[in-house]
Amino acid sequence: MPASNGIEHWSEQDLRYLKGVGPRVEEKLHKLGLNNQRDLLFHLPLRYEDRTFVTPIGSLQPGRRCQIEAEVLHAGVHFRRVGRSRRLLAAKLADNTGVVAIRFFYFNANQQKLFEKGNWLRCFGEVRAAQGELEMIHPEVELIDPDNPSPLPQTLTPIYPTTEGLHQLSIKRILQQVIDKLKTDGIAETLPQAWLDENKFPDISSAMLRLHSPQSKSDSDLIASNQHPAQYRFIVEELAAHRLALLQRRRQIRSRRRPAIEPDQDLLEELTQSLPFELTGAQQRVLADLMQDFAAGKPMIRLVQGDVGSGKTVVAALACLPVIRSGYQAALMAPTEILAEQHYQNFLQWLEPLGICVVNLMGADKGKKRAQKTAMIASGEAQVVIGTHALFQASVEFNRLGFIIFDEQHRFGVDQRLALQRKTRDGEMAHQLIMTATPIPRTLAMSIYADLDYSQIDELPPGRKPVTTSIVSEQQRSSLIQRVAQSCAEGGQVYWVCTLIDESEALQCEAAELTYESLCQQLPQLSVGLVHGRMKSAQKEAAIAAFKQGETHILVATTVIEVGVDVPNASIMIIENPERLGLAQIHQLRGRVGRGMRESYCILLVKNSLGELARTRLEIIRSTQDGFAIAEKDLEIRGAGEVLGTRQTGDMSFRIADLMRDQKWFPQVEILAKMMQQPEYAKVRAELLRNWIGERQDYTEVG
Ligand code: ADP
Ligand code: MG
Repeated sequence: MPASNGIEHWSEQDLRYLKGVGPRVEEKLHKLGLNNQRDLLFHLPLRYEDRTFVTPIGSLQPGRRCQIEAEVLHAGVHFRRVGRSRRLLAAKLADNTGVVAIRFFYFNANQQKLFEKGNWLRCFGEVRAAQGELEMIHPEVELIDPDNPSPLPQTLTPIYPTTEGLHQLSIKRILQQVIDKLKTDGIAETLPQAWLDENKFPDISSAMLRLHSPQSKSDSDLIASNQHPAQYRFIVEELAAHRLALLQRRRQIRSRRRPAIEPDQDLLEELTQSLPFELTGAQQRVLADLMQDFAAGKPMIRLVQGDVGSGKTVVAALACLPVIRSGYQAALMAPTEILAEQHYQNFLQWLEPLGICVVNLMGADKGKKRAQKTAMIASGEAQVVIGTHALFQASVEFNRLGFIIFDEQHRFGVDQRLALQRKTRDGEMAHQLIMTATPIPRTLAMSIYADLDYSQIDELPPGRKPVTTSIVSEQQRSSLIQRVAQSCAEGGQVYWVCTLIDESEALQCEAAELTYESLCQQLPQLSVGLVHGRMKSAQKEAAIAAFKQGETHILVATTVIEVGVDVPNASIMIIENPERLGLAQIHQLRGRVGRGMRESYCILLVKNSLGELARTRLEIIRSTQDGFAIAEKDLEIRGAGEVLGTRQTGDMSFRIADLMRDQKWFPQVEILAKMMQQPEYAKVRAELLRNWIGERQDYTEVG
């Protein structure tokens, strides 16, 4: 809200006026989508940690994140022969109840200095059981005076989403400055007062303050169980903002001219005849929906949901045929390069025999090669273009783009989806098909994809082998490794997925590297591959290709392989710490096996101390393979009250809302969105969309 004297409100100010924000940090903040001080306020904690107490080492439990205070017994730097980093900082710490090992695979001189014999340290991190002892890898460490330790926090510690190179503590220091201003000055309300009163929701400034710095014990307890009115307020607000943006977008799109696509039965038949399988009834139904959309007078915007392995790709390929025959180009966007490459291979195999020119645009295409491909796209010679989302953002000109397919759409946030219509011919809005495997109950899909029509492939191709799922505890790790060795000796292949839900992707990659190193060491007779998000895309591709071709037996990966990867020979999927993932995500991962001739297994490798709720959830995964049943059961259970800090990751990019957990708010969301569509709220609405969706989109209505 601009002040009357023309000076803008403090929250509009640039980030660089804050202490600790130089050009480098500012760039990192931009990367997080934070462009001014108000954006920072809306950067809500990802989760909270309870650091209000210290756990005696004797009572530590593996699998928990704990805080200890202990003395350094001894410490040293060792040199290792395997792995990417060769140095290891190892220490033993003790209090009067026990001893714990601390290990750092990456560390700097300052960290090393803390570990001087006799120093007292306060460490916070995950406790693991390793070779008969307890260990903490890469804990947060603070030097303390044992006689006079610095006071512990009195309330929950918020953990913020951050990005590589921006430390949690730095982002907190920066945030603290805007939180202080919020305390004294507040910011403008973004919701209708009448609605807030009716629902007894707090005003924006106090709600925000509560979430950034929970004050009382009762605040903390409510936040920890996701039941704080401040959380409710922002959950409804965020969902309403998304809904409003989508409804607005839908209206805009539907009012535009569409590419005229003529039905083409001949080509469709030619391709279906040449396939090595018959389309399932569900595939045929969905294909018919798509053909009807082409025939209708408006641009298509359709979401196709189909469980993992239900055969969405071939439906997409078939849908391209009438588009091409009508003289338009089709584009397929995949969320990762790995998937884009795989789709390219499939499309080539299906479409090339029909004389269709398929081009893939990859990150590695540089210079002359890229110029050649973009020229083909610009001239229209390339009839189907396949690449990642990022590639299409960068100046690629199409000659006549008529149809865009987004694969595994749930990976793209709403704002990204909104920003995609650029590559169309003036005035014409390309038809859009969005495909996802995320099993979202229908009501939910309708509400959250308010801008889309919806079809479902609710049938798997015949002859799929069921995947036997078992829950195996950490103690059985070595026998599990033996089993892996045996399967590989018999020609099988294995995925080994390392997960860690954390604010930093870096830690997840590190976990994968550690597992990779230990498997290399323990299974020298086998060839092990590694793929994670921090590797260069060429490296990733090479690792996947080697696995596909059977050159590597085991592929250690982070959840980057969650979507789409198709290696039929792989028959064992091991998922470490599955309890940290959403059930839908585990289900996705499991869908990577059971695709070929071998008996297939999914092994959920869990910590010894698994809570009741976590067990129940994993039991659901174990007992059924029906994605929808899984989604609904997950919801039932999680509705009962959620454990501290679990959030369904990999879902759409919501900051505070969780589609599954927050369904109970949908009626309110609808009421609020409807209310705010009225002209009197035009200004507040614009503000709301700006806060939650971003400024990339022009939300003004088109006539
Ligand atoms: P998803 O829906 O998970 O994207 P894909 O499109 O990758 O699934 O299909 C999985 C596998 O099933 C592929 O190898 C594909 O060729 C095969 N497939 C697709 N449709 C059928 C069908 N009707 N009958 C048999 N196999 C099929
Ligand atoms: Mg797919």
